[in-house]
Amino acid sequence: MKRRDILKGTLFGAALTGLEVTMIGQAGAQVPTPGDDKASEGAEAKWTRMGEMVLEHQAVGKPHTGKVLAAIQPHGDDVPLFAGGTVAKLIKEGYTGYMIRTTNDEMTGPGTRQEGALHNEQDNDAVTKALGLKKAYNMAYRNHRLDEMSVQDFRGQLILLIRLLKIDTIFSYDHWSLYEENPDHYVTAAVVESASWMAAMGKDYPEQLEAGLTAHGVKEKYYYARGPQIANRVVDISGSIKEKVASIRAIATQGPGGDNGARLRKQLAEKKLRLPILGDDDESANAGYIENIVLDANSMYLRGTPSDREIGRAYGFEWAERFRYIGPQHNLMDEYIKKNAVAL
Ligand SMILES: [Zn+2]
Repeated sequence: MKRRDILKGTLFGAALTGLEVTMIGQAGAQVPTPGDDKASEGAEAKWTRMGEMVLEHQAVGKPHTGKVLAAIQPHGDDVPLFAGGTVAKLIKEGYTGYMIRTTNDEMTGPGTRQEGALHNEQDNDAVTKALGLKKAYNMAYRNHRLDEMSVQDFRGQLILLIRLLKIDTIFSYDHWSLYEENPDHYVTAAVVESASWMAAMGKDYPEQLEAGLTAHGVKEKYYYARGPQIANRVVDISGSIKEKVASIRAIATQGPGGDNGARLRKQLAEKKLRLPILGDDDESANAGYIENIVLDANSMYLRGTPSDREIGRAYGFEWAERFRYIGPQHNLMDEYIKKNAVAL
């Protein structure tokens, strides 16, 4: 059996066992192709189901026009690495998007902490542009110290942004992910989770409503994680891989992207060696390195989890990202009344 034939199905088990799983009851499952109307179940974006996993395809046109998303990350490199392809995909499909970075990233990059904070802010602006987002909001809590900040202050700021921007959809670290060691990641995840529904409650932070805002809850959540992931959605990012690569290239101060490709090309040339994937100049080296090493050869940065290329290959896409997706909550009482009520 070929490796790709045994990779279909939930990636929860896959993540825990290094992807070597066979899904029971999936023998007849077909890998759907984008544009296959018969396989489409969604009213807006096209999606299909494979066991517990929903496969989100590239949509035709701009079905998300009028909707607003926020790409929320503690550090400049989080969204680009784990969700950049899906964020860029949804922007192409009509969303208006904003970047929200929760720390000041002062602990990474060369030079002093303040120089690190400056360079990372500049990188984050470049990431915002590369992903097609409209504006970056920097909350600037201290890097690596998010667990000492006031949760109420943090949550209040996030609720204000959700209400001000009328955010419908968020991307964030998964509050329930496993083995996450960075307090910036798990504190942001917890506060995002609670702010998402409290923003709809009129009694939480009511002074914001008196200032003219209206209560507004988040309806869709795409949770990313590093390490083992309790995923239920795989998104085809083949049409936005260029934007994802560009966003990882934009982070020069930290992370596995930046100009690492150009540096490696130069080091190899000094030894009279060449890697064909690095091309003939610095920028093609940077892009080739990100596409073939960071997103394919499964860098150590991803902690042994499957790369975008591997996830895509498992589900019939060239490139894919995976998430724990939580969708709109249906009002069951309304549905019951609609189905059962009779005229007086
Ligand atoms: Zn991070």
